[in-house]
This record gives sequence, C-alpha cells and structure tokens, in this order.
Amino acid sequence: MVVGLTRHAYHVSIDREVSMSKWILIIIAMVGVVGCAPGYKEPVIDSTFSPYLDLIQDQANTRGIYGNLTMVSSIEFGSTPKGLAGYCYRKVDTQGYTREITIDREAWDNGSELYRVFLLAHEIGHCALDKSHNETMMVFKGVTVPASLMVPGTIYAARFAQFDVDLQAHYWNQFFTK
Ligand SMILES: [Zn+2]
Repeated sequence: MVVGLTRHAYHVSIDREVSMSKWILIIIAMVGVVGCAPGYKEPVIDSTFSPYLDLIQDQANTRGIYGNLTMVSSIEFGSTPKGLAGYCYRKVDTQGYTREITIDREAWDNGSELYRVFLLAHEIGHCALDKSHNETMMVFKGVTVPASLMVPGTIYAARFAQFDVDLQAHYWNQFFTK
C-alpha cells in the first residue's frame, strides 16, 4: 500500500489560566479515554478498494506527484444519495475534516475495471483534491468525449477510454493538473 493518509490537525480550546497539573490530568484523560487525538478517526477503507487506490497512486507517482491523495476518513460500500454510483461527503468543522467516500455496490459490481478506477478517482477528486465537476467535452481522435474524470457520470469517460490508452493517459494528466 502506498496510500498516504493524513492525521488531520485539531484544535482544543482550553482556558489559558488552567494550571499545569490540570493540563497533565487533561492530557492523561484524553490519551486514556480516546487513545488518540480528538477529531482524528482511524481511516476505514474497505480492502476491496486497496488495489484500485494503488493504481491511482501509481498514476500520480509517474507524474511526480507524491503525498496524500487519499486523505479520506473512509471509503466504504453503502447507500448513496439519488442512486449515485459514488458520493463524497465532506465537512469541515473545529475538529478538522471529515471526508467520507461511499460507493454503490451494484454500480461497482457491474462496472469494468477501468470504470472502478475512474469512479474511485472521481470521488477522491472531490474528497481529497477538492475538485468540482467539469462537464467540458472535447474531440479526441474524432470522437466527442468528456474532457475530464470529474465529469458527472464517470462511466462515459470509462466507456470511451476502455480501449484507448492515449485517452486514459489524457484523463490522468488532466486529473493531476490543478
Ligand atoms: Zn462527482
């Protein structure tokens, strides 16, 4: 696994007047009860996704991009709003970031290998790279195709790119460009 996971920064506001001994007690209590920094949740990643995450990380690595591509709280199968194939839930609060990816099991099971990688990349685009949707179309080798993996309905990009490695390369180049 090359997937980088980030321990999110957290803030605890405690009255500055509090004495040193109270500080120590508070720290012992936090470590004892929580066992970890408050606001930090151990990432939960369904092992089904691990090889696909590795593929995405490889694409990043070959483009000289290293780091926390999947700084997400969780990637799991579950129910998504509006029957979407995948969904990124992102929330920022005082405890840090919550970035949860949910993948629809049926869409996953029925999808090609390329579609699965693209779907996961799309959600990582939202959840880890803060990307929005991109509905731009382009003409590639005489065919009109989505210009980006951030197209809503990644399945179309996967269909067009299924047998064209040049188009696949375009999508990864575009994906890893700000
Ligand atoms: Zn999306």
